[in-house]
Amino acid sequence: MLELRPNCECCDKDLPPESLEAVMCSFECTYCTSCADSVLSGICPNCGGELVRRPIRPAGKLVNNPASTKRVLKAEGCAPVKAA
Ligand SMILES: [Zn+2]
Ligand SMILES: [Zn+2]
Repeated sequence: MLELRPNCECCDKDLPPESLEAVMCSFECTYCTSCADSVLSGICPNCGGELVRRPIRPAGKLVNNPASTKRVLKAEGCAPVKAA
């Protein structure tokens, strides 16, 4: 099951499960759209994978399948992915 993380890993912005501003990579690293667009150019800085909008889990499904509450934050902040 997809881990719906509660914040942007770069800037710690809150990203509730219904947020349309959340993007994630295939490893569930989660960012806000402004970091993804302006800093990361749509590429996950952890794995180099593409960032796509996180799908919204229907509210009724969150009752038994709640979003993650574990905040993940890069202490050093995010920088654009270096060209390999
Ligand atoms: Zn952010
Ligand atoms: Zn990633």
